[in-house]
Amino acid sequence: MSSRRDFIKTSVAVAAGLSLAPAGLDARSGRNSRGKCREGGSADIIIAGGGPAGIAAAVTAARMGRKVRLFEMHGALGGMWTNALMTCLIDFGKGDIAKEISRRLEELGARVPRRGRMLESNYIFEPEYMKYVCEQMCVEAGVEFLLHCRVVDVEMDASGRRIKAVYTESKSGRQRWTAKAYIDATGDGDLCERAGCGFDFGGENPGDNDQPATMMAIVKVDDDTKIADCIANDPVSFGGKDKTDFYAGKARLKAVAQKAGYDATYTFLTRLHKNLLSLSVTHEFGLPVDDVEAITKATVRSRQEIFKFTQALARNGGDGWESLRVVATAEQIGHRAARRVHGKYTITNHDIETGARFEDAVATSNFGVDVHATTKDIKGFSQPHRQKSKPFQIPFRSCESADVDNLYMIGRCISGGFYPMSSYRVTGTAVEMGENVGRIISERI
Ligand SMILES: Cc1cc2nc3c(=O)[nH]c(=O)nc-3n(C[C@H](O)[C@H](O)[C@H](O)COP(=O)(O)OP(=O)(O)OC[C@H]3O[C@@H](n4cnc5c(N)ncnc54)[C@H](O)[C@@H]3O)c2cc1C
Repeated sequence: MSSRRDFIKTSVAVAAGLSLAPAGLDARSGRNSRGKCREGGSADIIIAGGGPAGIAAAVTAARMGRKVRLFEMHGALGGMWTNALMTCLIDFGKGDIAKEISRRLEELGARVPRRGRMLESNYIFEPEYMKYVCEQMCVEAGVEFLLHCRVVDVEMDASGRRIKAVYTESKSGRQRWTAKAYIDATGDGDLCERAGCGFDFGGENPGDNDQPATMMAIVKVDDDTKIADCIANDPVSFGGKDKTDFYAGKARLKAVAQKAGYDATYTFLTRLHKNLLSLSVTHEFGLPVDDVEAITKATVRSRQEIFKFTQALARNGGDGWESLRVVATAEQIGHRAARRVHGKYTITNHDIETGARFEDAVATSNFGVDVHATTKDIKGFSQPHRQKSKPFQIPFRSCESADVDNLYMIGRCISGGFYPMSSYRVTGTAVEMGENVGRIISERI
C-alpha cells in the first residue's frame, strides 16, 4: 500500500516547477521552450484516459450538454480494446452506450459471438472498427478530445482537497487545463496518484503479485477451418454447445505449440473474421504499473514470445499452421492490474460473496472472479483458488476519491479489493459505470 502524498508539497512543487506563460505568448517561440506552460482551457469535466470507461463517461456528459475535455496518451481511443488489441467483450450490453457500441459494430459487420448465442453480452470484435466507432461517437457527441496527450500532473488548491488544474504533455508542450470535476479513467489510476490519493496495488495478501500482463496480437492463416479446434470461439472447438469450454481450445493450442517446440505461458486464439485471428501467448508476472523500465522489458519480451510462438507453429505445427503470419502486435502491453484508488467505499470480498446491493449503484458486475496465474510456478492459466462471487453492485461512492473532493474514478482503478477487481475489471462493467458516473457528475455540476 502506498502512503498518501503531501498535498501541499505537491502543489508547491508544481507551482515552483512551472512558469505559466503570459497571455499572448507566441506559439512558435513559447510552446516548446523548457519550463514554459500554456493555458489549455477550461471545461465542465476533464477526463484522463480514452478507454472503455472514459469514452462512456465523456459521450454521456457531452450529450447532456456538458463541456467535456478528454486526454488520451495513445493515438487512438478505445484503451485496451484498441491499443492493447484486447478483442473480447465480457458482461457487455448494460446501458445505452454499450448497446450503441454493439449496434455500430454490428452495422460494420465487425463482431462475432464469443460463444453460442451470447452475442449481446459476450462477443469478439475487430479492433480497427472499434477505433472508428469510439472516435465517431465522441466526435458526434461533441467531446473535445486530444490524442497523443498524456496527463502528467495536477495543481491542488490551498486546502489540498481539490484539484485546481491538470497538466498535460504532448507535441504542444506542457499545457494547463481547468474543470469543475475531474475523472480518472486511465485504468492505472495515474491522475489519482498525481493528486496524492492513497491506493492499493498487488494481490490479496501483502507481497503477492497482482494479475499478470499479456501482450495481444492479430495473426492470419490461409484457411482457419483447418485449425478450428484451437480457435476458442469456433463451434468445432466447443462442440457447438452454448456453454463453451473456453479452456478446451486454449489447451489444444498449448498442446500444438508444445508439439511444435514452444512452451508458452498462456495461449488463447479467437476468430475476428474469416482467417483473421486474435492471439494471446504471454503472461508477464508481477509487472508494476509505475516502472517504465520494467514495462519496456516486458513489452520487448512479450513481442519476442509472439514471434517465436508463431514461427514455431508455422514451421512445425502441421496442417493449417504453415501459413500463419503476424499482422499486428499491440502497441501497449495489456495490464490486468491497476492501482485500486481509495474511495469513499471500498468493495470487499464479502460484497462479492453475498451479491451486495447499494442504493447508489452505478453498475452491476455479473462476471465471476477471474484470476490468471500470478506466478510462473502455477500450473495452468488460472490461480487454483476460486473466490466465490454472485452478481454484485458497484456503488457510486467507490468511484469517489476518499482524498480529493472533485476527483472521481471509473473503470479498472475504482476502489475495491483484489478479488472484486478481478470481476469488475471487464469492459462491460467499465462502460456501464462510465456512463452512470458521467451522468451523475453532469447532473451535479
Ligand atoms: C490481456 C487482457 C485481457 C483482457 N481480457 C478481457 C476480456 O476478454 N473481456 C473484457 O471485457 N475485459 C478484458 N480485460 C480487462 C479490460 O480490458 C480492462 O480492465 C478494461 O479495459 C478497463 O477499462 P478502462 O477504461 O478502465 O481502462 P483502459 O482500457 O486501460 O483505458 C485507459 C486509457 O487511459 C489511457 N491513459 C493511461 N494513462 C494515461 C495518462 N496519464 N494520460 C492520458 N491517458 C492515459 C490509456 O492509454 C487508455 O487508453 C482484459 C485485460 C487485459 C490486459
